[in-house]
Amino acid sequence: MGLEHLLADIVGQAHVLTDPGLTASYETDWTGRFGGRARAVVRPADAAQVAAVLRACAQAGVPLVPQGGNTGLVGGGVPRGGEIVLSTVRIAQLAEVDAALGVVAVGAGATLAALQAAAARVGEDATLDFAARDSCTVGGVVACDAGGARALRHGTARAHVAGLEAVLADGTVLSRMSGLTKDNAGYDLPALLIGSEGTLAVITRVLWRVSRRLPARVTALIPLASVAEAGRVLEALRAHAPSLEACEFFVRDGLEIVLAHQRRRSPVGDAAVYLLAECAAAADPTGELAEALDAAGVRDAVVADDTIGREGLWALREGHTEAINAIGIPHKLDVGVPLARLGDFLERLPQVVGAAAVTGEARVIPFGHLGDGNVHVNVLGPGPQDDRVDDAVLELVVGLGGTISAEHGVGVAKAAWLERARGADELAAMRAVKGALDPAGQLNPGVVLPL
Ligand SMILES: Cc1cc2nc3c(=O)[nH]c(=O)nc-3n(C[C@H](O)[C@H](O)[C@H](O)COP(=O)(O)OP(=O)(O)OC[C@H]3O[C@@H](n4cnc5c(N)ncnc54)[C@H](O)[C@@H]3O)c2cc1C
Repeated sequence: MGLEHLLADIVGQAHVLTDPGLTASYETDWTGRFGGRARAVVRPADAAQVAAVLRACAQAGVPLVPQGGNTGLVGGGVPRGGEIVLSTVRIAQLAEVDAALGVVAVGAGATLAALQAAAARVGEDATLDFAARDSCTVGGVVACDAGGARALRHGTARAHVAGLEAVLADGTVLSRMSGLTKDNAGYDLPALLIGSEGTLAVITRVLWRVSRRLPARVTALIPLASVAEAGRVLEALRAHAPSLEACEFFVRDGLEIVLAHQRRRSPVGDAAVYLLAECAAAADPTGELAEALDAAGVRDAVVADDTIGREGLWALREGHTEAINAIGIPHKLDVGVPLARLGDFLERLPQVVGAAAVTGEARVIPFGHLGDGNVHVNVLGPGPQDDRVDDAVLELVVGLGGTISAEHGVGVAKAAWLERARGADELAAMRAVKGALDPAGQLNPGVVLPL
């Protein structure tokens, strides 16, 4: 029997897609830069079906690409050509929040927004958030160890995982869903799978940690003359506002692109750099925020403590990815730089990119999570296949002691860079782990580890 028939026996004919009209949306990534034809898209309903699909693919020697919401930005969740795409879209069950333990069991295919809503209904907070919330899945978030703006206070996805269920390439189901806070018996396998980008296992369920919701929030948008000034404001916020929840930045060019895309006017005066800070607490944190801004010598800021006002300010920051993509296919480099070197990095960036962009003009739009030293460098201009700009930016980052991937992952976009960034010894250790869990290289070949 052919593989497609075997898969249809496992998940039902309706959930094996081969018609190009139906598979197309699974075959190109969110940026439009990465993708290829899938042999088929298969949509299992639970861990048992995932295990059977993996066994069938292993027997047929056909590789498999796990996919959640397909909002990844490094090409790791789309086929390169000829793979089976395993979509988790049907594994989306959400259990009741366990208020005593502060956890909720969630299917890997549930969206981040669905998880947030389930937590909010009982006064809890999933405490991880970013603009792709309505489409990205909990499995994808964990597979990438996603971060977002609130990682500054609450950590990345890793800090939220209290347990995992996952299926290895040979169909073995691993389940650590007890929710024990203390359990150091043996190797921490869930920890190994977090951030593995679908190369070691398919995550099917997650036990997600929630926290009591902090009802009082205040957001400030602050125009500043330089990144160095932004650094000083961050320092003051850390010193005076323990309720600091997020500290983001963007630049003039980025704001102009977002304003044009959203057809709105700027709520704040013109500046080279904009800092967006949010504080959250049980009682109104406005006093703390004001004290911090005062200590930093900030004279001009737009402050909002109501939902509409706050969302309006956040839309300026969160609208960057979509607004930039509306202009063209950008080269997206999600990098991390030690805070002390961030100013240096941003100052050298236009010149480094300009020198590398031999095909013509390059427009550089950096923005991101200032508090984490995490910059999303977006470059418009060079063609999608022209990697020279990416190489130049990553070279600069590594030279400054930074990381080539802060939260989006390595995917296929940066696989060739991994050895340069992490060294031959670490790469060999990673290959040994991959070889132990997926000896035939069935899962997501070419992602994270270069072929
Ligand atoms: C507008 C926008 C804003 C964004 N902002 C942020 C941000 O602030 N912070 C951030 O960290 N990211 C951000 N991202 C990137 C992206 O949303 C995250 O990487 C997200 O975690 C991907 O989830 P997904 O379900 O869409 O995964 P996909 O794109 O489907 O897959 C991503 C990777 O995870 C693997 N994968 C997916 N599901 C599973 C599974 N169940 N088991 C094993 N492997 C799996 C895939 O194989 C692939 O390698 C943003 C993206 C967009 C489009």
